[in-house]
Amino acid sequence: MLDIKIQKTTTPKAKPDENRLGFGNYYTDHMFVMDYTEGQGWHSPRIEPYHALSLDPAAMVFHYAQESFEGLKAYRTKEGKVQLFRPEKNGERLQSTHERLCIPTIPVEDFVQAVKTLVEVDRDWVPSAEGTSLYLRPFTIATEAHLGVKPSDSYQFLVIASPSGAYYEEGLNPVKIYVEDEYVRATPGGTGFIKCGGNYAASLAGQMKAHEMGYSQVLWLDGIERKYVEEVGSMNCFFKIDGVIRTAPCVGTVLPGITRMSCIELLRDWGYTVDCETRLSIEEVMQAARTGHLEEVFGTGTAAVVSPVGQLYYEGETAVIGGGKIGEVTQRLYDTLTGIQWGTLADEKGWVVPVE
Ligand SMILES: *Cc1c(COP(=O)(O)O)cnc(C)c1O
Repeated sequence: MLDIKIQKTTTPKAKPDENRLGFGNYYTDHMFVMDYTEGQGWHSPRIEPYHALSLDPAAMVFHYAQESFEGLKAYRTKEGKVQLFRPEKNGERLQSTHERLCIPTIPVEDFVQAVKTLVEVDRDWVPSAEGTSLYLRPFTIATEAHLGVKPSDSYQFLVIASPSGAYYEEGLNPVKIYVEDEYVRATPGGTGFIKCGGNYAASLAGQMKAHEMGYSQVLWLDGIERKYVEEVGSMNCFFKIDGVIRTAPCVGTVLPGITRMSCIELLRDWGYTVDCETRLSIEEVMQAARTGHLEEVFGTGTAAVVSPVGQLYYEGETAVIGGGKIGEVTQRLYDTLTGIQWGTLADEKGWVVPVE
């Protein structure tokens, strides 16, 4: 158990309009901070008023991107309770990110305690309008002032919180996706399986290209042959072909999404065959679309939960999926997961963690 010191703000901010939150625009009154010093380990866990950081310009995070992050949400139920969704999974994933980036790991219980404590202190910031939530962003930065390339000897772990609006302001609408055949996101042996800022910096060029061409997201192919489908922007991607549900295996280049994992469990409970071990080529996907066998495509991630894909564009060809309408499985997963998260469905899987 961490002994978290709590210093509350004396100047609370005005809360934003819950119906116009958007994503990542507002921050709560407090933040969680914990330091790491070589020889001492992680220490001084505390809640402080939200404030700007003061860092040496030589801090290693700025130069060599030794940085990790996570993303999860706190949900308010109709009864006014506040709950998290599988936060220990975020804690476990942060550990694998830290291991890959040579950052000292944080015990999963400490991670969950840090997140819960911030949500408790900023409980009034968890919005209650339909579809809204408090988005939580835990992250770690290398703080040692040093320009040699090596792991930092000091770090700061922080958690900030941002009240966020319903992802789909106008309901669950299928998105148009550009299949990227030039840039790649991840290669074997690299960092595709962890959440680090560098992956996103490298993905922006592909994202901008897709936007300019009128697509909302990029579907990444594997980094070697540009042949197999991997994931979509900040979502894992599922394909339903002839009744079988396929998604890219998480073997080094694909981020192991907690929403992905939860969807696979639910689908198997419902009796679907899910193949998350065999790679799926973009050619197979396009061929299935041409012959009417591509039944559904959807992305999964904490932000959108489940996002239906209505169109895929690949090398001059457009595949239209399900006539641009939402598939049955996509809708069922969305309704079930959001039902569990916002507490309108019973949590039979034991995925929900209440915040006191
Ligand atoms: C965070 C993330 C996901 C989704 O993971 P969840 O745990 O479901 O939110 C998928 N792909 C990438 C690249 C991500 O960063």
